[in-house]
Order: sequence, then C-alpha cells, then structure tokens
Amino acid sequence: MQRFPAPFEPFRFEGRELYLKRDDLIHPLFSGNKYRKLYALLQTPYDAIDTLVSYGGIQSNAMLSIAVLCRLKGWRFEYTAKTAPRHLKSDPQGNYSHAMALGMQLYEAHPTAYDAAVNALKARHNENERVRLISQGGADPAAQEGVSVLAEEIRQWQTAQGIERLNVVTPSGTGTTAAYLAESLPECRIVTVAAVGDPAYLQRQIETLMPIPQNLTILSTPYRFGSLHEELLQTYEKLKAAGVEFDLVYAPVTWLALMEAWDELEGEVLYVHSGGVSGNGTMLARYARRP
Ligand SMILES: *Cc1c(COP(=O)(O)O)cnc(C)c1O
Repeated sequence: MQRFPAPFEPFRFEGRELYLKRDDLIHPLFSGNKYRKLYALLQTPYDAIDTLVSYGGIQSNAMLSIAVLCRLKGWRFEYTAKTAPRHLKSDPQGNYSHAMALGMQLYEAHPTAYDAAVNALKARHNENERVRLISQGGADPAAQEGVSVLAEEIRQWQTAQGIERLNVVTPSGTGTTAAYLAESLPECRIVTVAAVGDPAYLQRQIETLMPIPQNLTILSTPYRFGSLHEELLQTYEKLKAAGVEFDLVYAPVTWLALMEAWDELEGEVLYVHSGGVSGNGTMLARYARRP
C-alpha cells in the first residue's frame, strides 16, 4: 500500500470550497473503496483461503481490486463475466488487461447463460470455506469492517478540524460503501448518487444489507451508468484542471449532482475519492471512438 492512512486535503471546485479524502492514493490498482470493502480479507491469513470467486463486469474496478488482493495473498482468483468483446481479446486494455496480467482466471458466459452461471457459482461455493465468493462489486456484510476504519479516520479528522456539521459525499454502485459509512457515522450526513439505476433500485440494493439509514441522502442522476456524454467528459476535465484526476464512470455524475444540491447542504463537505482511475484509459478511448 502506498499512502496510508490516505490524506485529507482542501479542494476548490467551481467556486466551492470542500475537502477530499484521498483514498485513491492507497494503491494504484486498488480502487479506494474496494480496498475498504476487501479490508477484512486483506487481514485474513493467506493460508486460510485458497481461492476467491467473483463475477460482474469485464472492466470492473472491483474485479481488478480482487485480482490485486489475490496476487498479494497468493490466492487463486476465478471471475465469471459475460463474453468479452473480441477487440479486448486481441488487444487487452484497462482493468481487464491488468487483472489478466495478475493471474485472474476468467470464465466467460454467453450473455443468455450468464445469470445461470452466477447462480451455479453461488450454489457451488456455499459449502467450501477455503473458497470465498464475493458478490458483484463487493456488496457484502464483510465490507462493514473496512468501511468502519474509513469512518474512524473521518471522525478523527473532523474532530481535529473542529467541524461541527459534515456532509460526506461518495458515489454509489451497489451502495455498500455509502450505507456502511452512514451506519458508522451517525453524526454526519452521507450524500450519495445512484450511479447504477435509479434511487429506488439503489435503496433495494442497500436493503439487502440493512434498513436504509436515516442519515443517508440519495441523489439521482439523469445519466445511464457508463454512458458517454460531453458534460461528463467536461466535468472530468474540469476536475483534473482543478488538480485531481477522478474516474470517468462514477465521479462526473456525482460531482454534477453534488453541485446541483450544494445550496441545500448545511455545513462542510468532504468528498471521498475512491479511485478507479485505472479504468480511465479505456473510457477515454471510448470517448475518442465516439462518432
Ligand atoms: C466501486 C466504486 C464505487 C461504488 O461503490 P459501492 O460500494 O458499490 O457503492 C464508487 N466509486 C468508485 C471509484 C468505485 O470504484
């Protein structure tokens, strides 16, 4: 791990003053919040487990983070995804190429057979305790441990800064990070954006882990997950010009929603930068190929 604990720093964006928690600096290939969500496994002795099994997108940040974890621990990593596009096979890019280089065993399922393959995985790995199944995106109660360490870092910083009211902003995919942050920081407001699906979908995701925390505010975004829009690219570029590179999938939609909701937030704002910039090369290539 490179910078730990990751620093807090002031940040100025579009005339607003806020703070960043630089969890992106923890590791170049570990997304910051995947590091938090996989923290309990990082603390697990290497000889307690043989294999981690997971499934999801072919360029997922969670996939790459698990591949790094398995390399650090000497564990086998089996990953099920929908059949990879041919251009990716002939010219490996981004998180996929990093994960393959780290030894990930990829199982490709035809899109029509993917759900059945995932269900079979879940059934098969329930019994064997030397094989651990990680739900898509790391949406797992085991995430609580590492996210509560992040919460404690935030609490100590807030106290040291003498900040009375604090809004903690973080994007949501599965909502695991935001939900456990809300649970661990009842004195703060956690503001998140439903980047995958609408807020009702995010609520259902969170409800598989816990009742929706009272101090969690879910903002919506008009942009479909992973879609390409000039405003999103521009927001990424403005953030970069302001001094920090963010990811192109979660961050631009979150910053746009945050700027819109800004005037309704009371107190200071802390944005948790969860990294994910390892996927920017492939996103920028998609922007470049755009008609
Ligand atoms: C995975 C990821 C998220 C989503 O985290 P969840 O806990 O699934 O909500 C947000 N931002 C980045 C950069 C990520 O890699």
